[in-house]
Amino acid sequence: MSMPTIKQIRAYTVRGGGADYHDQGEGHWIDSQISTPMSKYPDYRMTRRSFGLNVLGTLVVEVEASDGTVGFGVTTAGEIGAFIVEKHLARFVEGQRVTDIEKIWDQMFHATLFYGRKGVVLNTISGVDLALWDLLGKIRDEPVHALLGGPVRDELQFYATGARPDLAQKMGFIGGKMPLKHGPAEGDAGLEKNLAQLADMRERVGDDFWLMFDCWMSLDLDYATRLAQGAKAHGLKWIEEALPPDDYWGYAALKKSVPAGMLVTTGEHEATRWGFRMLLEMGCCDIIQPDVGWCGGVTELVKISALADAHNTLVVPHGSSVYSYHFVVTRTNSPFAEFLMMAPQADEVVPMFNPLLLDEPVPENGRMRASKLDAPGFGVRLNPDSTLARPYTH
Ligand SMILES: [Mg+2]
Repeated sequence: MSMPTIKQIRAYTVRGGGADYHDQGEGHWIDSQISTPMSKYPDYRMTRRSFGLNVLGTLVVEVEASDGTVGFGVTTAGEIGAFIVEKHLARFVEGQRVTDIEKIWDQMFHATLFYGRKGVVLNTISGVDLALWDLLGKIRDEPVHALLGGPVRDELQFYATGARPDLAQKMGFIGGKMPLKHGPAEGDAGLEKNLAQLADMRERVGDDFWLMFDCWMSLDLDYATRLAQGAKAHGLKWIEEALPPDDYWGYAALKKSVPAGMLVTTGEHEATRWGFRMLLEMGCCDIIQPDVGWCGGVTELVKISALADAHNTLVVPHGSSVYSYHFVVTRTNSPFAEFLMMAPQADEVVPMFNPLLLDEPVPENGRMRASKLDAPGFGVRLNPDSTLARPYTH
């Protein structure tokens, strides 16, 4: 079989939901008061949209092969990402064989080192990489998980992230992760409120259900340590992303200071094997949580995962729906997956990338058969009713 080449790459933006899941309407739990690094400013404390969390919007990358097959990937990078794809990265993609994923990744990363390394550039590279894996799967008529070596288990099990772990428990999830509401600027009174929220939720779900706090980079070491110690009485399973991503030293200290049995997790805003090398070699956490749409894509996640394996650290990717599931099902060091509750009141299971994607599978009773992921590529389609814009061409 002669392998098709990539004829064209195109970058689109779309607003409202989609891959930029922070881009939601009024009244959604994800835009309620959540402790953030901006919470020290009262003007930016009550919602995350107030400081611009939704400014980027969704980036959709399409790659079309010489035989007409089209693959696509989505991430959070919006118009900036579209510019980078069309004006810079396209040259490394077009004309290559669809199997040239490793070479394309290496060229995209090294050609952007002078302004990239992390953040929106790596989000963009991730979007291209996801599109390339989707294309290869479609051309081979195989799901991405088969390209990665195949499932190691028959089903995935999920914990739920959202404001209502008590409802997630009724829906069959193995645990619930709540956003932390109050940050260090709200002092001891805020800390007590955080602990009271945890105590209330523990009361509702009983002893055996996992409860976690997602702190979204918002704490300092002293506060995180006091929160963890106070949360021990209420059986907190893990404390997530307690500190800013660059504070590797703080994470290493936090991991030593949390109560025995409580896990420290982080990494959703970290990128590449080099970023995760810092977390792993410095002993920063028990679980790394790379986002496959932000860390460098599937190509990089596989390397990050191998590194984590060698450090006896679990890899439980952040959100990202099917793009994570195809990876999680193939790794023994990724024993469960995150499901982001995107219903505005976190009271029902809805597809994470709704309304942008079609055919997106969701957990039933907190589980998903691996066979739900057997369609070629990532097994999802772009919703033809989504309004895509192509702000740049090349
Ligand atoms: Mg998180």
